[in-house]
Parts: sequence; C-alpha cells; structure tokens
Amino acid sequence: MNYQSTRNSKLNLNSAEVILKGISEDGGLFVPEFIPKLTKEDMISLIGMDYRDRAKFIFGKYLSDFTDAEISECVESAYKDNFDDSLPCHIVKLGTNSFIMELWHGPTCAFKDVALQILPRLLVKAMKKTGKESKAVILTATSGDTGKAALEGFEDVEDTEIIVFYPENGVSKIQKLQMQTQNGKNVTVCGVEGNFDDTQSSIKKVFTDEKAIEILKKFGKAFSSANSINWGRLLPQIVYYISSYLELVSNDEIKLGEKINIAVPTGNFGNILAAYYAMKMGIPVNKLICASNANNVLTDFLSTGIYDVNRKFYLTESPSMDILISSNLERLLYEFSDRNDIETKGYMNGLFEHGKYEVSDVIKQKSKEIFYAGYCDDDFTEKKIKEIFEKYSYLCDTHTAVAISVYDEYKKITNDNTKTLIASTASPYKFPKAVLKAISNSEIGDDFSSIKLLEKISGLKAPIQLVSLDEKEIRFNDICRKEDIFDFVIKSAGGES
Ligand SMILES: *Cc1c(COP(=O)(O)O)cnc(C)c1O
Repeated sequence: MNYQSTRNSKLNLNSAEVILKGISEDGGLFVPEFIPKLTKEDMISLIGMDYRDRAKFIFGKYLSDFTDAEISECVESAYKDNFDDSLPCHIVKLGTNSFIMELWHGPTCAFKDVALQILPRLLVKAMKKTGKESKAVILTATSGDTGKAALEGFEDVEDTEIIVFYPENGVSKIQKLQMQTQNGKNVTVCGVEGNFDDTQSSIKKVFTDEKAIEILKKFGKAFSSANSINWGRLLPQIVYYISSYLELVSNDEIKLGEKINIAVPTGNFGNILAAYYAMKMGIPVNKLICASNANNVLTDFLSTGIYDVNRKFYLTESPSMDILISSNLERLLYEFSDRNDIETKGYMNGLFEHGKYEVSDVIKQKSKEIFYAGYCDDDFTEKKIKEIFEKYSYLCDTHTAVAISVYDEYKKITNDNTKTLIASTASPYKFPKAVLKAISNSEIGDDFSSIKLLEKISGLKAPIQLVSLDEKEIRFNDICRKEDIFDFVIKSAGGES
C-alpha cells in the first residue's frame, strides 16, 4: 500500500515515510492510494477476535511495509496494559437504540490515547526502517487533549523529542495542568497567545519551512506530527469503529450487514473521518452524524457546501472542539472529488487566501447523502448532561453531550430508529466544573473540589491520574506569541542532545 498527498496524487510514499513525515511537503495530507475493503469472510473472522487482533488485522491492510511481527509488537505494547480492562473501547447501552462508545479509558482520559499510545511505537519502527534521520521532533498543536495524550505517548521514547503548543486561554484548567506537569526528559510544553487555529496554522508553517527543516537536518533530526493530520493517528481510530460494529453484532444488538449511524463530536474532523474510512472499508453505515459546538463551521459546510471561517470564534465548555479550521476535511474533499488533487488544492488555496471556499455540486450532493450535521451550544450541552444523568444515571462529559444532543435532534427530525453508535471522547472528570454545574445546584469551587463533589453525587469514581494532578509539580510555564513559535521550536529542537 502506497500513499499520495491530497495536493499531489502522483506522490508515492510508503507508510513508514508518511508516518515519519506527518504532512506532505506540498502542504497536503497523506492518504492511502485506495481504501481496502473487508470481505464478509473478513468480518466473520474478525468477530471472533479480540480488540488487539482486530487492530493487527486492520493495520496490516495499511502498513504493508511493516512486518506482521512489528505490527503485533506495537499493538500489544500499546493496548495491553495502558487501558482499563485492556480495552481501548467500552460500549455502554443507553435506551434501546443508542450505544455510547467510551474511548477514554486510557492514561489521559480522552479518546486521543487510543491513537497516541500506538503512534510513537509505529514512528520509532518507521524511523529505523527508512534510516534517514536519527531523531524525530514531534511538533504538536493542541486544543487540549491531543497535547497531553501525545506527551504521555512519547514520554522518554528513544530518539524522539516532543514540543506541544496549546492556546493559553483555550484549554480547561485540568487539561493545562496535565500538560504542565508532564514527566519525561524529551518533552517541552508552551502556551500560545492565540486560539487553536492560530497555533495549528503557525505549526503547519514550521513543518514545511525550508530553513527550519535545514537546521534540524544538521543535527540529524526531522519533524513529525502527532496531530490528526498524521496518518498514523487516523489509522488506530478506524479500528474502534470496526471493532465496535462487530461487538454490536456479537452481542446480538444488530445483525451482520445491518446499517448503523455513527455520531461523533467533531473538531479537527479526524475522528469522524476515521468513521468515514471504516464505512468505506465495509462497515454498513446509514448516516455519519457530525456534531459541533457553537463553533459550527462544519454544520454550515455540510449543509450548504460553503466553508467560511470568517465568523466569531467562541470559547466553549467543550474546548477540544473550539476549532474553525478542521484540517482533516481536506482528506474528505479529496475522496469526494474522486481524488482530484488540483480541485482539492483549489479549495485549500481559497481557505488560505480568503478563509472561504465553495465546493462543487458533486461534493455537496455526497456530503448530504452521507452526513447529517448539527450543533449545540453550552446551554444545551448542560441540559443534555443533566437529562442523560437523570434518565440513565449516566454521567457524560461536555463533548459527548454535544454528540448526544445533535443525535437526539436528528432522531426527532427524521424519526430514524437505526441503531446508533455515539463516540464518547472524554471522561466527565476532565471537565468537572461544567459537568457539576450541569447536574447540581451546588456552589462550584475549583476543579478538584468539583471532582470530589461529582464523585459523591454520581457514584462514579474519578480517574486517579486526574485526582492526583493537584499534587504534581508544574514543570512548564512558558508562554509565547504565535509569531514566536518558529523561534521557540528552533531553540528547543535545533541543538544536539
Ligand atoms: C479532540 C477531541 C474532539 C474532536 O475530535 P477531532 O478528531 O478533532 O474531530 C472531541 N472531543 C474531545 C474530548 C477531544 O479531545
């Protein structure tokens, strides 16, 4: 299996190279040359496997330059002991037709662990395979959860350094503390004066900057990315959609071949794109439900075909979705335009130059066929958390509540009773103040007193790694302007170590 760039179909790289590079030099994103299909026989044999074996099978389809033994080693060490019950994904049934796919049982309590526990392992193997650079410098922009999950995944991983930038005022207190207290000799964390989009755009520029690349090269280093622009981030996410579908089949909730809906709280369009790839591989899907918060640029895009970032940016209680430039949409446009690199590049130029583009009628049509898009503001998010808690005694976080809310709205409008998988992307304890405010009238104190009170009210135990954050030493306090990201990177990475 080889890989192309969304801005150059003729590019032909293997999977080790694309995982190492993260983003193509032409600014495009790497995509597989075709999407492999699962046959009915494949599905039947996958049903009998556990999560890790399913992952190995699916990885094998995409990482053809990795040996089975290498894939197996990565999967085993990533998923064996780092998640509760050695399962990256737990399904909880709510009511008759909805299934919450909890993806936050890993070390940092957000779904990003599923990909970021394995990406570093794949990357180290990829580095040895290509034998080009001896050290990878992982640059990461985070809207809150990627940063910590990447730091945790790369902590003290041989031959890697990681630098994480987060919007200084755009992440929750818990998210910030998780990053500022990170252990490891190879990690650096810095706040940015600006929002996530500023941070992500500045970093994308550094990646492809010739001078920066040259400086790193002198020290035998090369950039890579832990953001969902890296194919190695998306691939592990495809696995949990396929695995969860099969889980529903083996629990007799659906029949093999029966269609499901998948609802995903969406920011950078990575997680829902993985659901789209799972569908293309053969998982029967009726609708992909794209749920946004007040930053509803995707809701508008999927219903009108016009992507326009010229709008107010909101800081919400679901901060990991406070994004106006959803990078992974580029991959969907590439698929929807029948892999037309020139057309895709045209849209991206429009975005870069005017913050706006309008897609072709063909793409508009496909978007409507496959997606339903909706959004939900903070008020509705809180109401949904309360409703779900009172009805099912189930506590969900703010991001998950956005997805449930948009799914409920979809059901009301369409009367569609198709069984639906809803991605639950973070532990409610990652956003304790907002969740507590939603379910109780008590005075809201700081994050840690909110965690305690939430435990008392809900009976759900808080993850120890969040509770103990209070006592950890803060290691990183730097804040820089977005204009200074370049210099910060060169200063931290442009040296021998
Ligand atoms: C990152 C994140 C999202 C958004 O996922 P994308 O892949 O960026 O669309 C949603 N919820 C939580 C909790 C997240 O951390």
